[in-house]
Amino acid sequence: MKALLVYAHPNLKSFNHAVLEAVKEEFAAAGVAFDVRDLYALSMDPVLKAEDFLAIREGKPLADVAEEQRFVKEADLLVVIHPVWWFSLPAILKGWIDRVFSAGFAYAYGKNGPEGLLKGKKVAIFSTTGGSEKDYDTYGFKGAIRTAVDNGIFGFCGMEVILHHFMHAVPAVSQEEREAMLVQVRHLVREQLLSA
Ligand code: FAD
Repeated sequence: MKALLVYAHPNLKSFNHAVLEAVKEEFAAAGVAFDVRDLYALSMDPVLKAEDFLAIREGKPLADVAEEQRFVKEADLLVVIHPVWWFSLPAILKGWIDRVFSAGFAYAYGKNGPEGLLKGKKVAIFSTTGGSEKDYDTYGFKGAIRTAVDNGIFGFCGMEVILHHFMHAVPAVSQEEREAMLVQVRHLVREQLLSA
């Protein structure tokens, strides 16, 4: 199994970075090969532009997109680590998907409508929130995010989301609670991702 860790947070001291490190350590301890795409560290422009559409039409993606697609192609499991911003993905992650999951690579339109081209690949998502679990339940935010991201993006491309784990109210809870969240991340990697 080869994993691709797609990480979207600008701050090296963030809780998200601690999640990334925990996932990396568990994969390394298990001897699982993985690559990391730290989106803020990449020089890739996440804004989809006219030249991308031209390149897609000519069947030859731009060089920076082709490089990211190579990482996706090689991976059996995509692990996405991100904070929830405006009940969605950070713009840099959404832009990475806009450009990398392009027509002809991630999906195609056939006679019967759209078809996912990334079948066989699995996805695990770790999302941190500012909002409490109670608010997420009350307003249905979790379901809305799962519909848009799990089904609307990854499912649309034929991928199977095997885990979408939310960590709630991260800035508000105690240090001990955050540490327990990281223990849970390690447990989920060992129990659900290593066997994927
Ligand atoms: P940080 O703020 O980086 O860290 C939180 C705490 O964890 C800090 O005290 C930090 O010191 C501590 N920490 C760091 N490392 C460790 C470690 N190893 N062990 C223990 N503690 C550690 N939330 C929503 O629910 N819905 C929204 O729509 C939403 N929109 C947002 C939009 C924007 C633009 C922004 C900036 C925030 C938004 N938020 C929203 C809140 C956001 O989701 C949370 O602030 C974020 O998920 C917290 O994760 P973080 O990695 O940024 O935490």
